[in-house]
Amino acid sequence: MSKRRLKFWGWGYEDQTLSEIQARQIAERISALTGLSPEGYVPPPKLSEIELSTPRLTPPCALESICSTSAYDRAAHTYGKSYPDYIRAYERDFSTAPDIVAFPETENQIIQLLDWADGAGAAVIPFGCGSTVVGGIEPVVGGGFRGALTIDMRRMAKVLEIDPTARAARIQAGALGPDLERQLKPSGLTLRHFPQSFEFSTLGGWIATRSGGHFATLYNHIDDLVESLRMIAPAGTVESRRLPGSGAGPSPDRLMIGSEGSLGIITEAWMRLHQKPTFRASSAARFTSFETATKAVRAIAQAGLWPSNCRLVDAEETKLAGAGDGSFHMVVLGFESSDHPVDAWMDRALECVRDLGGEFDTAGERDTTADAWRKAFITAPFKREGLISCGLMHDTFETSITWERLADFHVKVKTATEEVIQRTTGKPGHVSCRFTHAYTDGCAPYFTLHAQPTPGQEVCQWTEIKTAASDMLMREGGTITHHHAVGRDHMPWYSGQQPALIGDALAAVKDRLDPKGMLNPGVIVPLR
Ligand SMILES: Cc1cc2nc3c(=O)[nH]c(=O)nc-3n(C[C@H](O)[C@H](O)[C@H](O)COP(=O)(O)OP(=O)(O)OC[C@H]3O[C@@H](n4cnc5c(N)ncnc54)[C@H](O)[C@@H]3O)c2cc1C
Repeated sequence: MSKRRLKFWGWGYEDQTLSEIQARQIAERISALTGLSPEGYVPPPKLSEIELSTPRLTPPCALESICSTSAYDRAAHTYGKSYPDYIRAYERDFSTAPDIVAFPETENQIIQLLDWADGAGAAVIPFGCGSTVVGGIEPVVGGGFRGALTIDMRRMAKVLEIDPTARAARIQAGALGPDLERQLKPSGLTLRHFPQSFEFSTLGGWIATRSGGHFATLYNHIDDLVESLRMIAPAGTVESRRLPGSGAGPSPDRLMIGSEGSLGIITEAWMRLHQKPTFRASSAARFTSFETATKAVRAIAQAGLWPSNCRLVDAEETKLAGAGDGSFHMVVLGFESSDHPVDAWMDRALECVRDLGGEFDTAGERDTTADAWRKAFITAPFKREGLISCGLMHDTFETSITWERLADFHVKVKTATEEVIQRTTGKPGHVSCRFTHAYTDGCAPYFTLHAQPTPGQEVCQWTEIKTAASDMLMREGGTITHHHAVGRDHMPWYSGQQPALIGDALAAVKDRLDPKGMLNPGVIVPLR
């Protein structure tokens, strides 16, 4: 593990904290573009300012060496990275910190930890790197437990085996994105699953949350890359069979993928790999009409070209990213292959663009606009902290919808979100949209909102905005999440979206795998 310490309250390393001047510059730029006018500045918390309650649990001697009750470890495992997580951290409120954080190095230690937690009446929170934006790891576990134990998987981070023939690797769940790719590099193979949180999230977290990577089509969710996996539950160990495909009844993998720490702790998985791409092409097309840009994305998604990137970014978001002046919507396109040149695929995609009246740069200039957007995308999580310090609300929510409902859906969700921001905060907000993934039958719209909450009312106002936006997603037939997962924040809408009998069946599965309901209580299966 790196010697640099991660922030206990936010994104990235401690030495990547923005200064007040940097935060103010970011907030000024965004306020000039959105019309919001932030006031004041709240510095990020210091560990010395945090008061934690006395741990209610004591680890047994045999597990003491892998357990911590240090203030840093408890604080760093309290919150994920959602807007309300940041606000409570900035309020120096870490009242839900876990009592103990364990760092197992072997499956046997996980089994011992679960046995001990069972006897001690503790809830157990599986933890990857805490990049959840939906309250997936906060130990809010209900009154039935004597305390909370968080199990951090990052010491189980090895690539254990590589099968070059089938192009697959057996990888431990705690591997962070960059370390996982570093270990695969000598083989010339790559997982190529690059969520925006790649640097600070783990393989186990991706599988547990069904994360969405950079591939805009074809292999968009981690689901498509999992060949088999292994999970330890309080009732025993489950391991699925390594197969390229199988028609043998409901898939055990599909039950474990997306279980968000509620059914067991994923310890390792065989993952499908790719040869590193050597042929690449990228471009950015401009459209004056959002609707026409949508048609272009649909045409490309339905043409069987399978671009690795095919993202529509609306004019407002293009401008916020510094990739445009607000007069055009942008479609970022990319193709890659390890086997053949991809120019013909790009040319065909650009024909679709041209047929619909879109414009694009000539070959030499192709990359500039797309590059500006890509850079803004990577630095966005850091900039967000500057905005929050300066009193601005910045949040994102995402969904998916079939093409024929998209136009109406997009307008209704955007309007409902703008209206609730105005009603709740008393000031106009700013809502923009991009499509993160495209399918033959629809796409995944991803909304970004900026607002100016009343100081001291941030969490309350955020809850109202989140509720109204989520209600509208549900009412208009979308999903509560395309890839950010369910966590605690989305449970009310997830329970409504899921067929009731399936919810009952999942609760029965949890009863069998986790009879005391101690794993991540309240996530996926409602708290009893
Ligand atoms: C800036 C930013 C950008 C993001 N971009 C994306 C994106 O592009 N695509 C995307 O899909 N998501 C994205 N996310 C959300 C988040 O990164 C994903 O949900 C990610 O998969 C979580 O991984 P993690 O290792 O940090 O897990 P954690 O946040 O630690 O945990 C997430 C959930 O998984 C469970 N869990 C973790 N590890 C295990 C395990 N080994 N076994 C069982 N359960 C486990 C936890 O209990 C929890 O319920 C983003 C988040 C941020 C803050």
